[in-house]
Amino acid sequence: MTTPRTLWHATTAQPAPRPGPKAGATTDVAIIGGGFLGLSCALQLALAGVSVRLLEARRIGWGASGRNAGFVVPHFSRADPAMIRSRLGADAGARLLDLVAQGGDMVFDLARRAGLGAQAEQVGWLQPAHSAAMAQALQARVREWQALGRPVEWLSAADMAARSGMSIYHGAMRDASGGMINPLAYALGLARLAENAGTVLHEETPVTAVERARDGWTLRTPAGALHAGRVLLATNAETLGAARPLGRAVLPLTVHQIATAPLDAETVARIAPHREPASDTRTNIFTWRLDAENRLISGGMALMPIGAGSRLPQKILQRAIAELRLSADTALAHAWQGTAAMTTDALPLLSELQPGLIGAVGCNGRGVAFTTSLGRALAQAMDSGGSLPLPAKTAMPIPFRPFARHAPALVLAKGLWSDARALRHPPTP
Ligand SMILES: Cc1cc2nc3c(=O)[nH]c(=O)nc-3n(C[C@H](O)[C@H](O)[C@H](O)COP(=O)(O)OP(=O)(O)OC[C@H]3O[C@@H](n4cnc5c(N)ncnc54)[C@H](O)[C@@H]3O)c2cc1C
Repeated sequence: MTTPRTLWHATTAQPAPRPGPKAGATTDVAIIGGGFLGLSCALQLALAGVSVRLLEARRIGWGASGRNAGFVVPHFSRADPAMIRSRLGADAGARLLDLVAQGGDMVFDLARRAGLGAQAEQVGWLQPAHSAAMAQALQARVREWQALGRPVEWLSAADMAARSGMSIYHGAMRDASGGMINPLAYALGLARLAENAGTVLHEETPVTAVERARDGWTLRTPAGALHAGRVLLATNAETLGAARPLGRAVLPLTVHQIATAPLDAETVARIAPHREPASDTRTNIFTWRLDAENRLISGGMALMPIGAGSRLPQKILQRAIAELRLSADTALAHAWQGTAAMTTDALPLLSELQPGLIGAVGCNGRGVAFTTSLGRALAQAMDSGGSLPLPAKTAMPIPFRPFARHAPALVLAKGLWSDARALRHPPTP
């Protein structure tokens, strides 16, 4: 098993792998998948006194949780509160909005408890508007979140220029509860907290099958079989072994990330005087943040997947240099990629695959905060035997999935044109 080549894996110490289960082991709840969702759920179940084991095919944080950019964003990528209510109805809509909104504070609280220090910065998150129309839409979004009591505000174009050194934006939404984190350190921290609370963690333990047993479930692993009363599949876009029924119901999306060598203090003061991470509103989204050592982190998606791993990092770097007016010799220090899970309706997918076997995928690109709060809500439901925190859906395999996974690249291609058109009308000073 190779270690992912991320900035986070290169700079964060990992403990030795926890061993697999002994044949014949039993537990009340088995969680499959050692990302934020599985770990958050395991932690909360263990805190409630439930016996819980988490099985991870490779290492904690091997999946999207250890490869993401670490933007802590307690929002959806596009949906407004009103849109969520109209799609889910008033009650379920309110529950989902609550889960989304709680995510930022919950992440930073857990990060503090796990001792992350400078690797977690709750400095707020910015969403700059690249067009006048987006500025209008975001201002309406700000009012909606404010009505729900969230610490969200609208910044003028001049404010945004002062916070980024960029003059293309028509203003920005700012959420004070967001920020940035070293996601691998966070996943490892959640694992420590979960273990201290009583969770038994097994790494390098792929679950090959989950089979109905007389009073629960039998999980097959290379180390032997394990018996569990209830099971949570927290395997994101994976289709490995037991993960298959959930993984086939989402589209895997490859996302590329880069990190530069540390920037000098003058550049940092110009592009991020308050250290806020930002993700703008373009279809070809421009994202930037610093890490604790002032490396700049940015990302992107490929129009043409073939050869993207060697081509795209330089493209992302050149874009960051041009947008933020960095020195032309800014060095590329790390480049990596990961797989995000996209659901067909861009909402989380919760499914009771069979009674006592739950599958959940939470992300759509904004998963750090949301999977943390969803994990807690799932733990409460599994502990009390109550209903799921959001309406359950059927995990339907996506038809023509190998072709359908290229749909986001088509959206991106179309968006490049509309992005360019919008940027021809910068804000008036
Ligand atoms: C490159 C990239 C950048 C991103 N940037 C951001 C960002 O800045 N902010 C943000 O909010 N979100 C971001 N996201 C999304 C976010 O990372 C995810 O939503 C989140 O990490 C999902 O967590 P998870 O626990 O559901 O899944 P994962 O972290 O993917 O965990 C699933 C785990 O299940 C394990 N597994 C699979 N099958 C089996 C099996 N059969 N047996 C045992 N284990 C199994 C896998 O090995 C894996 O470790 C990004 C995603 C990517 C890929």
